[in-house]
Amino acid sequence: MTAASKTFAPAPERRVFGNRTLNMRSIQVVGFDMDYTLVHYDVHAWEARAYAYAQQRLAREGLPVDRLAFAPEQFARGLVLDLELGNTVKANRFGYVTQAAHGTRMLAHEAKRRAYAQVWVDLSEPRWVFLNTLFSLSEACLYAQLVDLLDAGELDPTNDYRELYALVGRGMDAAHLEGELKAEIVATPERFVELDPDLPRALLDLRQAGKRLFLATNSDWRYTAPMMHYVLDRYLPDGTDWRSLFDLVVVQARKPGFFDSDRPFAAVGHDGATAPHVGPMQRDAVYAGGNSKAVQQHFGVAGGEILYVGDHAYADVHVSSRIQRWRTMLVLRELEHEIRDEQAFAPEQAQLVEWMEQKQALDHEQATLRLALLRLEHGGALPAGVPGTAAELQERLRALWPRLEELDRRIAPLAAAAGRLGHAAWGPLMRAGRDKSRLAREIEGFADVYSSRVSNLLHLTPFGYLQAARGSLPHDSE
Ligand code: IMP
Ligand code: MG
Repeated sequence: MTAASKTFAPAPERRVFGNRTLNMRSIQVVGFDMDYTLVHYDVHAWEARAYAYAQQRLAREGLPVDRLAFAPEQFARGLVLDLELGNTVKANRFGYVTQAAHGTRMLAHEAKRRAYAQVWVDLSEPRWVFLNTLFSLSEACLYAQLVDLLDAGELDPTNDYRELYALVGRGMDAAHLEGELKAEIVATPERFVELDPDLPRALLDLRQAGKRLFLATNSDWRYTAPMMHYVLDRYLPDGTDWRSLFDLVVVQARKPGFFDSDRPFAAVGHDGATAPHVGPMQRDAVYAGGNSKAVQQHFGVAGGEILYVGDHAYADVHVSSRIQRWRTMLVLRELEHEIRDEQAFAPEQAQLVEWMEQKQALDHEQATLRLALLRLEHGGALPAGVPGTAAELQERLRALWPRLEELDRRIAPLAAAAGRLGHAAWGPLMRAGRDKSRLAREIEGFADVYSSRVSNLLHLTPFGYLQAARGSLPHDSE
């Protein structure tokens, strides 16, 4: 990096990272999701309330769930529920399971191997549920706890793990849709919302650079209006409000269906009531439902000129990229503390890499000496560069053992610590073991860029050119 570019570089955890080259100059329209995108929630506070409402609902259905409590740190975005076995798993990019928990209990290596040696996580199968967003954390926690209850004989034994998921889904849907939870958030947003003073500046920059902005949220107008007011209006010049930033507002968008349906728009009144809409869309109106093709037509641009920003790996990013070929940005707030963790761990990481390289060299030496002995035993020629009698080779082999053992002793705690970065139980979001995680594959496949928060667009600027990372290949180090 040159001295000049360093001057403007944001802290590493506030950067926008590119999978594919993104030229902000050719983006004409920027669309935003609301929940966990423009409006960031305190996950512990919000998900605890969603969990509590779902729990109450299950209790009313007669389930013995009163003693359960939300455990916010138990699971992480990007993990996968296995509805057949009642497990939560982490998979690498090929679907190979690297870690697993049954209910709320982590499985030891051997039990995990027995369950998954011949099973691959294939998200197109109904067996698997991907945890796409931070909203998934309360759902996963409740599901795992119900698995524990079923195993303990405390639930109707005719249920299976799949039915437990349906129960949790109904409970969570009720919590989100029945209005009490949202009314609580709207009444006391300061308990739930983490404000970002940089957000309005980032949106204003985009607008002032001539880009048109729109909002497409699954939330309804009665929730959307007070939440957008809470996070933006306090920072905007007097006489303006958040609505003036957006050329189009779509609520109850029903993503992911929004991206592949022809559903009509309805007009939303001030009181939130909807009425059929006909004719062109108006700038100051609010719409419900609709579809992404009509949004694109409204703006009169090509798919590649729209950037859509959201936090839901599937409903915001996967489908908008795959079906509409819009450009996409995934918001991953967890990345901030994970990148800070990784930076603090950098000296240990460098040491770990050095010791791993030494171990690999010794492993290779050991394998070659064993081969030399095998050849001698069968009267063959020794491998190139390995002179010596059988006794000498044996002696060299014996001398390797303590060195290898010593390296393993040093490596083990460092490797374990590396596996806890970002999340104590499940480790880094985008890594699984030494490979990339299933979430990383989703992000590479469908998010052109990703970042911890919307306001990081400030540093990219409306004129920025983000080059795709070069990517690494196994033979790069040669
Ligand atoms: P968006 O992220 O702005 O599109 O809004 C997401 C909306 O979906 C919010 O209103 C959430 O309350 C709602 N939501 C999240 N998870 C669930 C669920 O499991 N069931 C029903 N609604 C949900
Ligand atoms: Mg969202």
